[in-house]
Amino acid sequence: MADIEHEDLLKSVAEITEQRDLASLEVSVVEALFEFVPATEIKLYKVHGQEARLAVRVDENGVEAGGSLIRSPDGVLSLPDSAEFMDCLEKQAMVAGETEGLNRFIYPIMAEGRVVGILSLLCPANRDCNQWLISGLLRIYQNFLSIINENERDKLTGLLNRKTFDDKISKILQANADRDASGKTSVVEHRHGRDEKTSNWLALLDIDHFKRINDTFGHLYGDEVLLLFSRIMKETFRSSDLLFRYGGEEFIVVLPAEGIGGAWTALERFREAVESFNFPQVGQVTVSIGFVDMGNQCIPATLVGHADQALYFAKQNGRNRVCMYDFLIITGELGRESAGSDVELF
Ligand code: GH3
Ligand code: MG
Ligand code: MG
Repeated sequence: MADIEHEDLLKSVAEITEQRDLASLEVSVVEALFEFVPATEIKLYKVHGQEARLAVRVDENGVEAGGSLIRSPDGVLSLPDSAEFMDCLEKQAMVAGETEGLNRFIYPIMAEGRVVGILSLLCPANRDCNQWLISGLLRIYQNFLSIINENERDKLTGLLNRKTFDDKISKILQANADRDASGKTSVVEHRHGRDEKTSNWLALLDIDHFKRINDTFGHLYGDEVLLLFSRIMKETFRSSDLLFRYGGEEFIVVLPAEGIGGAWTALERFREAVESFNFPQVGQVTVSIGFVDMGNQCIPATLVGHADQALYFAKQNGRNRVCMYDFLIITGELGRESAGSDVELF
């Protein structure tokens, strides 16, 4: 390691291990690599099903990270269309290639035995790319990835846990507020030519009569229902939607930037999927859902409170249904100070 300062390298490793959330971890790893590897560009993609989505990019102009990157031309790559990425995925090992006189190295990022990300580096052909250093930093990254993943997730269902919700929700609301303040992307051109406000939707899902399931079949069957319910969530919602286990038999979904029709359709589709699923031994289980437009509120507790009021309304009106807070307010079916909410907010 002729031209690498041990002290600087240790400092970077220490910085990586200081990170406690995935987004900051990704940035600090890519920054460290850019500092110690003579790469002209490094990109970190996250693998979601058949797609690779750009999460961090660094080049001589600096580092870029966050959801906005996926709107760049190479922001979302279809894996089957990229031979090098597919090769890396299949081999679960580094793949080297060449692009316009530069060496290109593609590394898989592994977690729980599968490829969850892809790191792509472009290096001048005449430079030593310190492969040992890339592999070493990636090992540290992957170890940390598993620890953070474990801390962020609920043990039974594998969904994001309540603490992660509390951490993430403030950030999402802050990003909404910043975006609206800058005025830049607060409206997007709708596919049919109409302007529509970009927003996120927050839905609170609560299994109907879950206590009865426990009482009739026992806790083990209750847990099995929770597990299967979360599996239906993962299968029904998009990989870009955020899925949380909020409490015992309560779940939260944050659906990004869909029109009201899109959010409602996605939630209805899920409600129907649960209703039509045959839970072993237990049979039919249903879910009630309350949801709210996140663009109208910036305090997490109020937002969840509003979703809970819509959920309470769904429970009071027959269960097994989807209700939207903002709609119930407009129609006068729900008063702004409506009582009856029992969700645990703090
Ligand atoms: P509603 O339709 O009004 O939502 O009725 P409910 O019975 O679903 O609601 P209630 O809040 O009365 O009961 C929720 C039950 O969920 C009570 C609790 O024992 C059970 N529960 C909470 N966490 C778990 C868990 O991790 N495993 C199991 N098996 N049961 C749980
Ligand atoms: Mg409940
Ligand atoms: Mg319930």
